[in-house]
Amino acid sequence: MTDKFRAGAGRLCLDFIRTLRYRGTPSETEELPDAAAWGAWIDRFGPFATPVRPVSAGDARAVREAIHELLTASARPSTRQRLNRVAAQPVPAPSLTPSGELRWQAADPASAMLALLARDALELVTSPEFARVRRCEGARCGALFLDTSRPGTRRWCSMGVCGNQAKKSAQRAKATVS
Ligand SMILES: [Zn+2]
Repeated sequence: MTDKFRAGAGRLCLDFIRTLRYRGTPSETEELPDAAAWGAWIDRFGPFATPVRPVSAGDARAVREAIHELLTASARPSTRQRLNRVAAQPVPAPSLTPSGELRWQAADPASAMLALLARDALELVTSPEFARVRRCEGARCGALFLDTSRPGTRRWCSMGVCGNQAKKSAQRAKATVS
């Protein structure tokens, strides 16, 4: 279950919004259909040492769609207010164990994770980096990613998956022509 989520978009909030995979296409897939899936996402992307067991995924999906709206359209006032509210919630706090390890804790880990995500989105949308958020050119991928390449010409969310597929179909097209 856990390894189905895709990572590497360059920002936590961008990895989060791609859990509605192939967004806006006929193959659109909900990767957070229930609390178990949302817990699995937190376990993979969050800072907590122990598994998180949220009671539902409804809040997560609502915050995700609010973040998507913020990053891709002019967010409605209600969307902005929702994200401000979520971002104001407590985020995970660091604590040192007796054996000297760092542990991240929260009274409500799932809410704290949403607060982290909302803060990340608010920071991103107001930062110079936002000009470098691009849409993957991979066939039906459509994921948003942060282009951290020096020339700013990255075209795919990942070279491993979408970049490779594009290369292969370009080679196939060439082979057909010649
Ligand atoms: Zn892609």
